[in-house]
Amino acid sequence: MRREIKFLDLREANAEVERGLTEATARVIRSGRYLHGEETRQFEAELSDVCSGGIAVGCSNGLDAIRLILRGYVELGRLREGDEVIVPANTYIASLLPVSEFGLRAILCDPDPATMNLDFRKARTFITPRTRAVMLVHLYGTPCWDAAFAAECRNAGILLIEDNAQAIGAIASQPGLNGVRSTGMLGNAAAFSFYPTKNIGALGDAGAVLTPDAELASAVRAIANYGSDTRYHNIYRGYNCRLDEIQAAMLRVQLSRLFEITSRRRHIASIYDSLISNEIVIKPRISREEVQVWHQYVVRTERRDLFREYLSKNGIATDIHYATPPHLQPCYQGEFNGEYPVTEALARTVVSLPIANIREEDAEYIAETINAFGHNH
Ligand SMILES: *Cc1c(COP(=O)(O)O)cnc(C)c1O
Repeated sequence: MRREIKFLDLREANAEVERGLTEATARVIRSGRYLHGEETRQFEAELSDVCSGGIAVGCSNGLDAIRLILRGYVELGRLREGDEVIVPANTYIASLLPVSEFGLRAILCDPDPATMNLDFRKARTFITPRTRAVMLVHLYGTPCWDAAFAAECRNAGILLIEDNAQAIGAIASQPGLNGVRSTGMLGNAAAFSFYPTKNIGALGDAGAVLTPDAELASAVRAIANYGSDTRYHNIYRGYNCRLDEIQAAMLRVQLSRLFEITSRRRHIASIYDSLISNEIVIKPRISREEVQVWHQYVVRTERRDLFREYLSKNGIATDIHYATPPHLQPCYQGEFNGEYPVTEALARTVVSLPIANIREEDAEYIAETINAFGHNH
């Protein structure tokens, strides 16, 4: 029997950089500075560099990054109670949760089944005079961007907010509003998550806001620090959503390997794409024009339970992202009355294969095993 292939082994993944992490930890301990320090400042500069520009503000986590962006726009008078925000129905619930918070009205939009991302044609039909923002989620690490749609939004004064929690390092096929193609710098502002399982992960919670808009960046920075612009001077009734120095130091170690981390995931995805061939398993679309960073490699099958059980018996762990879409969660009961058939079909059929830190031969074995899954299973 072969060794078991785990879905994601963070201990193994971080063992590769244990020395770097340990040295960075020691550096922070010895600095005597645990917040508002040099590690955070450097990390913000490095994040901006890898995303081709913008002002980065480190913060507590990805959900708070989205909250800070929305609250920042509310404080600047660019979003108001009752404004509509188009949000993909097929996303992790954290893309949606902060929208309800400021009296904003989320309008859910079913995805394009080919990309599993926002269906731009459909989203266009949801735009009304009350639409003030669109949340673009680069789900699974695939860029969600359409330059023509973006231009229409810009002309109508509609803000484009990226949820880049799953796609750091990804590159869209068309330029964004700021002239670059890197996710996180395509629209007006972007949220990042550095939850430990993300492509770039902290050893705890961490996140960031990235925006080319200096006014928004200053508002976000102040709101994340009690609403304080200068010491003991509060212009907003803010939060405490800061990034710790220790997490910033961990993230600098990981961010320096972004290219390697992404290349590895892309290599495993290309092995899956070339070797998996089974008519009852639909592979995700691979794009030649964009750089996908494969936060998840998600196949679809109508026989999901059997498929997962079969893989598990063959020593292959899988996961589901996500089994229950936000509009069917108890906390949103009665909130959304649209139809989301594509989202619901995805929720029923998606299976995530191991993609982070697995070996080439493991990917080949997984593909062979999938190919032997048949109607008789
Ligand atoms: C992880 C994630 C978030 C939330 O990030 P946290 O750091 O866990 O708060 C938001 N949106 C998406 C798409 C995510 O995958």
